[in-house]
Formats: sequence, C-alpha cells, structure tokens
Amino acid sequence: MDPLSVKARQVPSLVAGGSLSAEEYVASILERVERLDGRIHAYLQVDREGALARARDVDKRARRGERVGRLAGLGVAVKDNVCVASLQATCASRVLEGFFPPYTATAVERVQREDGIVIGKTNMDEFGMGNSTLNSGYGPTLNPWDASRVPGGSSGGSAAAVAAGMASVAIGSDTGGSIRCPASFCSVVGLKPTYGRVSRYGLIAYANSLEQIGPMGGDPEAVSALFYAMAGHDPRDATTSREPPRGRGGAGLEGLRVGRVREFFGEGADPRVRERVLDGCSRLEGMGAHVEDVSLGSLPHSLAVYYIIAMAEASSNLSRYDGVRYGLPSEKGTADWNSAYARTRSAGFGEEVKRRILMGTFVLSAGYYEAYYVRAQKVREIISREFSLAFKGFDLLVGPTMPVLPPRVGDEPTPLEEYLIDINTVAANLAGLPAASVPCGYEGNLPVGMQLIAPRFREDVLLDAAVALVGEGGAPRPAEAP
Ligand code: GLN
Repeated sequence: MDPLSVKARQVPSLVAGGSLSAEEYVASILERVERLDGRIHAYLQVDREGALARARDVDKRARRGERVGRLAGLGVAVKDNVCVASLQATCASRVLEGFFPPYTATAVERVQREDGIVIGKTNMDEFGMGNSTLNSGYGPTLNPWDASRVPGGSSGGSAAAVAAGMASVAIGSDTGGSIRCPASFCSVVGLKPTYGRVSRYGLIAYANSLEQIGPMGGDPEAVSALFYAMAGHDPRDATTSREPPRGRGGAGLEGLRVGRVREFFGEGADPRVRERVLDGCSRLEGMGAHVEDVSLGSLPHSLAVYYIIAMAEASSNLSRYDGVRYGLPSEKGTADWNSAYARTRSAGFGEEVKRRILMGTFVLSAGYYEAYYVRAQKVREIISREFSLAFKGFDLLVGPTMPVLPPRVGDEPTPLEEYLIDINTVAANLAGLPAASVPCGYEGNLPVGMQLIAPRFREDVLLDAAVALVGEGGAPRPAEAP
C-alpha cells in the first residue's frame, strides 16, 4: 500500500476498527524510508524491527477487540535529542556516538502508551544549535521540496521525514524556533507548546529555561492528537504544569482577534515571504477573524537576549560531556584529567557548539555576568510583559515564521547571519508562550509558513487556527518525493 493514500488523522480509528493493518501501514512507511532517505537523510537511525513488532502487537489487540490507543498505528519520527530506550541518542553530535539511553522520555512513553509507533531517530543541528540541519555531525538533511535547499532546523530531520511521507507525524524540540523553522521550510504544521505543558524528562538539554518538546505533521488533526497525547503534568519534570490541557473548542475563527505584529514584518523580511503571509492574514479575515496591526516595541531586542541566555545555559549543560560520564572517551591511561577532557571535547564537538560554549562561558564570567546575563534576564521580563499586555486585546499574534525562503545548502552564512533569521521565533521561547508555524503559501515550489502565537496554555486556539488554515486535505506534498 501507499501510506499517503490514508490521512494521518484516520489511521487510529481505521486500525482500531480492523480495516487497516498497522503492520502493513508501518511497512509502507518503512518502504518509503528505504526508497527516499538515501537522498533526503532525515533519519540517523531507523528501528525497522521494533516498529514492525509494535505494529503487529497493535493489530493483535485490535483483532481481539481490546482497547487500542488514540495514536494506534501512526508512524512517529523522533528527534535525536529525545531519549528512546534502546535506540542511540546522539543529538547529531559525535561526542555522543554510541550513547544508548537507559530510559525513554516521558513524551515518547505517552505516545507509545497510545500506540504511536516510533519509526526512528531524526537528524538535527548538533544539540539543537542551528536552523538548517547543516550543523549535524552526521551530514545534512535535504529539503524534500527542493533538495538544493536546507529543511530548516534544528528539527530538520523530523520535518523532512513528515514532508516526504517517511513518518505520519514527528516529535521535535524548540528552544528558539527549532520546531517552527523547519515546519515553515518543509510546509508542515509545527507546534511549540507553552513552557511547562510537555515534560522535558528525557530531552537532552540545550537551554532548559527556553525549550519544549512538541508535535509536527502535515495533518493538523494528527498534530493535535500527538500534542494531547504528550501534554500534561509529569512528576519527573518539576517545571510541568498541573493545569490540565485545555481541549479543542473546534469553534472556527469567527470573531477571533488577530494582531499582525509589525516588527515581524520588519527589516530583513523577504518581500515575497511578507506577501504570502499577508495573504494568509486575508484568509483568516475571510474566515471571520478581525485582523489589526499591532506593535511590540521590545521585539527587536529578543534576538540578542535569546542568544545570551541560550548560550549561557548551553555552556553549563554541555560541560557534562567530559568523556567520563558521557561522551567519547579519550584513550586510557591519561594521567592529566584536563587534557583528557580537552581531547574529548575537541574531537567530539562541532564548530558551532564550541563557539557557543566559548560565548556562553564568556557572558557568565566574573565582570561580564551583570552586563550580559543579568541584563538579558531583565529584558526577557520586559518582553514577557509586553506580550501579556498585547493579549489583553488579541487572541492571536501573527507574522512570518521565518523572514526568508529556505536557504541554499551551499550558501554558508556567517554565524551572525544564521542567528539573524531566528528573529521572529525566539520571542515566544523567552516568554514561554505557545506558538505554531502553519503553511500559508508558496513562492514557486518553496514553502512559506505563518507563525501564530497564543496566550499561555492556549494551544487549543493555535490548533483550531491550523486546522482552519490548512483545511481537510492536510498540507500539500512536495513533488520531489512522490
Ligand atoms: N536556531 C536557534 C538556535 O540555534 C534555535 C534552535 C532551537 O530551537 N533548538 O539556538
């Protein structure tokens, strides 16, 4: 069979009712992986046998009339910084080559409890640092819409896998845009939940105060099902909220107050992207929303604030890769620990990761801590307050997810140029707000995504809007990966 002949949202009920075999469906996904992934390179590891065994188990229970879960049969691609017991977790870093986590992340455990089936682990920018998936220690992932372009990052493998039909849905993580950026570049829906909505237990940390695990996929109803399966309090992550997730109203967009954020359309935005997103706003209006311009004056500072805080947290988190507890061991019999650590870290970390450890250590060092880190935290608070104020007048804030079209693989931007295209995504992480990227048009065959930001814990509004914008048919598929 062709896995694309059935909509992801229908898979669980078809499997439960016995009219679709989970094993056959999963086998067809694996067949696509075999056919396409040599070129796209979305996966770092495929768990063929594990996936088929779980699918057979689901079929067996369905046949016996026993309960099967709400994600029954869906093939789930998991970003390589999210732990799944018995599968290697490298974060696309050479430093973690050969690391097999002894436990499974809560988010994945919940997905498996609902009979979602892990297909494999996906490629990413090393430790989540980047927006192209070019910063992988295992080679880049290509964009299924145009293989000369990047898929975005850092969850680029997850986005490319769903765009190319090599998974029904995917799990990504988002510290400063890593779900939304590749969702935008690969024309899928990606949701970064409110900070504290999804457990981070088993997510290998990059910047703890900013990141969340979240769902991605071409079918917004399936993305919604994946989100609700993962969301909720977890005693193993003290930052998770006890407030139960708010269910979907399915109310449509009538009367929704939408703020078109001026700063998101600002300097550096490609006019072609701007036009497509303005078209998306007109479509929201056509569905009954009231769209108005709004300005959030502190937003231009969000990029500097984000990179100071993210690098500071990263420099601390990455110190655990010392070759003793985690990481490439350096050769035995070394008398001097400092040089053993240095050897592990020099050999195991890529350029971008080293740069961030250096800068993060700098902004936290005596004499600079107040000037950079403390100041960044103060501006972060101002940005949060400005959002709270804006949400008194609006239900949703929108703009382009990425200010540019997917860059070419050989473009090699400077680090600063690369950081600059995160300008619209980082603010939601600083403020802990839920935000989604939803496909809203094409420039030629290159996708454009619209970012929607909602008040805390209002993922329901984002999902309703995604369903309305994408429509029944789900997001279009690239011609490159038929
Ligand atoms: N591109 C941003 C960074 O490099 C965001 C990455 C992410 O969300 N993990 O930090």
